[in-house]
Amino acid sequence: MFLRQRRKVRGRESGIWKPLEKKLPSHNNFGLAAAPRRRKAGVPSRPGNTPVYPLLDHWAEVARRVRASKDLRLFLDFDGTLVDFRSRPDEVTLEPEMRTRLRKVAAHPFVHVAIVSGRRRASLIQYIKVPRVQFLGLYGWEKEAGMHLPEPSMHSLSQARLILGDLPNQAPGIFIEDKGLSLAVHFREASPAAARKARSCLRRVSARFREHLHIIRASNVWELLPREIRGKGFALREILRGLRQPFLPFYLGDDLTDEAAFAALRMGVTVLAGPPRRTKARFRLSGTGEVSTFLQLLQAELP
Ligand SMILES: [Mg+2]
Repeated sequence: MFLRQRRKVRGRESGIWKPLEKKLPSHNNFGLAAAPRRRKAGVPSRPGNTPVYPLLDHWAEVARRVRASKDLRLFLDFDGTLVDFRSRPDEVTLEPEMRTRLRKVAAHPFVHVAIVSGRRRASLIQYIKVPRVQFLGLYGWEKEAGMHLPEPSMHSLSQARLILGDLPNQAPGIFIEDKGLSLAVHFREASPAAARKARSCLRRVSARFREHLHIIRASNVWELLPREIRGKGFALREILRGLRQPFLPFYLGDDLTDEAAFAALRMGVTVLAGPPRRTKARFRLSGTGEVSTFLQLLQAELP
C-alpha cells in the first residue's frame, strides 16, 4: 500500500517519511517499537526521538501522496478532533463548517471516512449526520447496531455499576457516563484529589472483575469495559487486514486512546490533533480548527 506509493515519489520530497519507516521491517509489522527514554526537553517527539512534523507546514509532501492515491482511508476520532470538549459529552456540537467539509470529503468516490470513537455508535450518528460515513463506536468494536457481549462480561459490568454508583458522592466533580456496554468515569471537572480517589476505586473494581473487565485510559476519562472491547489499535489492525491494497490511510486523534491507532497505522499519515506531547503520530495539528483546514486542503487535492 503505502510503501508502493513511497517508491514512486522517492527523491522528490524531504525526509519526513523516513525516520520511523527505516525501523520497520514490513508494513505488516504492527508491533510497537521500543521507545528510548531520552529526549530533548520541550521538543515533542516520537519513539526513537524523531520529530512530530506540523502537518500544514508539510502539506505539499502529503498532498503529493493524496494525488497519487485512488483509495484514501480517512479514520477520524470525534471528541477533541472534530468537536471541542465540553464539561459533559452530550454538550458538544459539530460546527457547521466542519460538517460541510467532512461531507464534501466523504462524498468523493476515492475517499472512505470512518469515525473511530469511544462513544456509542448511535451517539456518533446523532452528532455527525453526514452521509457515506462509517461509524465505529466503543473504540472501533461497535460496527453495527444491536451488537451484544457475552453474558459473563455483562454480569461483571452490572456488578461494577452497582459498586461505582456511589462514587460521584464520595469524589465531587466525578461524572459517570453509563454507555450500557461500558462505564466511563470522567475527571475533567474534578479536583486532583477527587480524580485520584476515583482512579483508585476504578483500579480496585477492575482488579476484582479482571477476568471479564479492563480499563482503557484517556487523559480525563478512565473507562471500564468488557475485555472483548480491546481498543482502537486492535480495531484498526483488524480493519487494515481486510482492506485491498494499495490505499493511503490517515488517522487523526487527540487522546491517549489514539496512540494505539497511530501505532497500528504508522506507515500512514498519522496526526496528533492537539497540544504537543510525546506521541507515535508522524504529524501534528493544533486542534479542531486545523483539522477543519486539513479537510479543506484534502478536498482541494481530490480529482
Ligand atoms: Mg478524542
